[in-house]
Amino acid sequence: MANLLTRRKFLNMAGVAGGSAAVYQMAMVLGLMSGRTHGSPGIVAPLGKTKRSVVLLGGGLSSLMCAYELDRAGYECTILEASHRIGGRNLTLRSGDLIDELGNQQHCRFDDELHLYFNAGPARIPAHHHYVMHYCRKLGVALESFTNVNYNTWVHDTRAFGGKPIRFRRYIADARGFIAELSAKAINAGAFDAPLSSEDLERLSAFLKSYGDLDADARYRGSSRAGYRSPGVLAPTAGMLEHPDLNLPLGLSEILKSDFWKWKMHFGEKNDQSALMLQPVGGMDNIVKAFVRNIRSPMLIRAQVKSIRIGNDGVTVVYQHRGEHKAIKADYCMNCIPMHLLVGIDNNFPVAYRKALSATGRLKFFKLGIQMSERFWERENIYGGISWTNQDITQIGYPSPRHSRQKGSRAGRLSLRP
Ligand SMILES: Cc1cc2nc3c(=O)[nH]c(=O)nc-3n(C[C@H](O)[C@H](O)[C@H](O)COP(=O)(O)OP(=O)(O)OC[C@H]3O[C@@H](n4cnc5c(N)ncnc54)[C@H](O)[C@@H]3O)c2cc1C
Repeated sequence: MANLLTRRKFLNMAGVAGGSAAVYQMAMVLGLMSGRTHGSPGIVAPLGKTKRSVVLLGGGLSSLMCAYELDRAGYECTILEASHRIGGRNLTLRSGDLIDELGNQQHCRFDDELHLYFNAGPARIPAHHHYVMHYCRKLGVALESFTNVNYNTWVHDTRAFGGKPIRFRRYIADARGFIAELSAKAINAGAFDAPLSSEDLERLSAFLKSYGDLDADARYRGSSRAGYRSPGVLAPTAGMLEHPDLNLPLGLSEILKSDFWKWKMHFGEKNDQSALMLQPVGGMDNIVKAFVRNIRSPMLIRAQVKSIRIGNDGVTVVYQHRGEHKAIKADYCMNCIPMHLLVGIDNNFPVAYRKALSATGRLKFFKLGIQMSERFWERENIYGGISWTNQDITQIGYPSPRHSRQKGSRAGRLSLRP
């Protein structure tokens, strides 16, 4: 029994590996949460003449959403936010903005131009984030498409392909081609005949040819999907663009040498990363600004929560504001401080709850935004998406879609497993 993998343990493991988004996805898959295909959050029943107060801890998006709904239902809310700004991880940087994390202050030195911004936290919204979509619609936040996958970006692995970057499309097409060819050989060798009828085998053979772009002999000899070695030429007769030189297949052993196939290759197929993704026009923090415009309750910044005590008739929260310790008492308290930070705050929560809080892990992750004086990647036919490398930076993101201007910002991201 000790080794039994319970749903709780499984969700915990998913949380350590992929954060709250992974837990949410897994809980939906396990049927523990409703996986609605559209919708809005449940409406909080109006209070009427009763008076009720709520203190909301943290000023990130989750807190803003709660405050917005509770406000409308007639609750008296107060948001306590430790930092100098509202928005939490939802952070868009523009010229002159202060970045004040862990005391290492920086100012964003981008040129002061509207399109030069960097979403330092979340950048993309998957189509199934129904609540975020709901509030964007309701609060008038305009959305545009976000390019997460782009077949023209680069795959760079110092251990393969002579250390030279190759196009994403070439890796994908060649990997598929070789796998399809191997599978076709297995069919011909009779290795597949047990579970499949002869009709199925025929269809499978046709499927593999189409899937891997194999030739009539079920061999992979390169594909137009992998791109061309030279630019096209106009065919004299048809007046059509022809490409005589296919890229040579990379070679299966080179493909396998690179670790791209482990997860980077499939990154854009994950439920929360696949097309079509969206982003607010002009910066992710437009969602924060829209909430702030529509919330009546006070939001205290530089108000760091120090203690949370649950009593019989409400909750007392002590916070530090302008060098002083102050206390606020409310009927309810909604915690929107991430669990790994909450665990360090004095509290009288039940022991089992505290234990659960301490059991959560976190990923090490950073994003770095760089302004470039020239959008040189557009000369390489790259408009949005991510290039991948096996070096520390891991991902290099391109602006999406603010194309064809002179200057642009690029994002580098590093993610490490916990
Ligand atoms: C680099 C990065 C990229 C991401 N990319 C995406 C993405 O592309 N798409 C996506 O959907 N999600 C993404 N996420 C996740 C997304 O940002 C979060 O899920 C979401 O912003 C969390 O909102 P929140 O309100 O729960 O928490 P937070 O935004 O973390 O808000 C918590 C707030 O609590 C405050 N706080 C902490 N301690 C105290 C204290 N003692 N007293 C008072 N206040 C305190 C913090 O300052 C903060 O403002 C990304 C996250 C990061 C970090």
